[in-house]
Amino acid sequence: LIRFDHVTKRFGSNTVLDGLDFSVDAGKHVTLIGPSGSGKTTILRLLMTLMKPDEGTITVAGDQLFPASEKQVREVRKKIGMVFQQFNLFPNMNVLRNITEAPVTVLGMSKDEAEQRARELLDLVGLADKCDAYPTQLSGGQQQRVAIARALAMRPQVLLLDEVTSALDPELVAGVLDVLRDIARTTDITMLCVTHEMNFARDISDQVLMFDSGHVIESGPPEKIFGDPEHERTREFLGAVL
Ligand code: ATP
Repeated sequence: LIRFDHVTKRFGSNTVLDGLDFSVDAGKHVTLIGPSGSGKTTILRLLMTLMKPDEGTITVAGDQLFPASEKQVREVRKKIGMVFQQFNLFPNMNVLRNITEAPVTVLGMSKDEAEQRARELLDLVGLADKCDAYPTQLSGGQQQRVAIARALAMRPQVLLLDEVTSALDPELVAGVLDVLRDIARTTDITMLCVTHEMNFARDISDQVLMFDSGHVIESGPPEKIFGDPEHERTREFLGAVL
């Protein structure tokens, strides 16, 4: 479903991704781990067409992202939902509107259908009673769960998760990760996660990719990467974070 072929991304003289190749099959849950600055967030931003690669090709569901017309980019973006470290909810809209806004304006869904779907999603993320609340009335963990519901409301094929618990108080992390575990278990959505939560990565991943200096230096099922890593850099990294 997702494919990177020889993708290079530079910022000035800093080569962040260096001829990167990897692919993610439909329905799989893939986690990106690796040291800070190794280019994990850059991969998600490239997929969201928030930036362009210097070389190489990226395809999502058979559509090449670059070069692509504005219309093609809009079509690709509809297939992808993203949840960021900062929740980025619309502060002037209540929870229900936050979730229904894009399905109504971008997908042309009727207001009734969008609201029904939003209520189902709020149930899924454990916030059925918060439809009318505004973002500032919610905890960080609750806001992040709304952000997850909002991403899913667009019925994306792919969900990108960029360190979604990093900005949360420690006691709120587990609730958000539980919601994501449920989504991984009960839906067929393809997930690509950048996370520092290694237990979560171990639980949900079909495949873990270890990044260092713009390359995937090791990849495999979580039992292998966490239990018996081959690469010295992976061992060092896991030794430091586990
Ligand atoms: P972290 O775990 O700390 O988020 P990461 O692996 O996600 O790290 P990236 O955020 O992808 O790393 O950043 C990789 C490198 O690219 C870093 O050295 C960063 O400073 C640089 N970088 C990222 N975005 C930009 C930008 N817009 N302009 C210049 N440099 C950038």
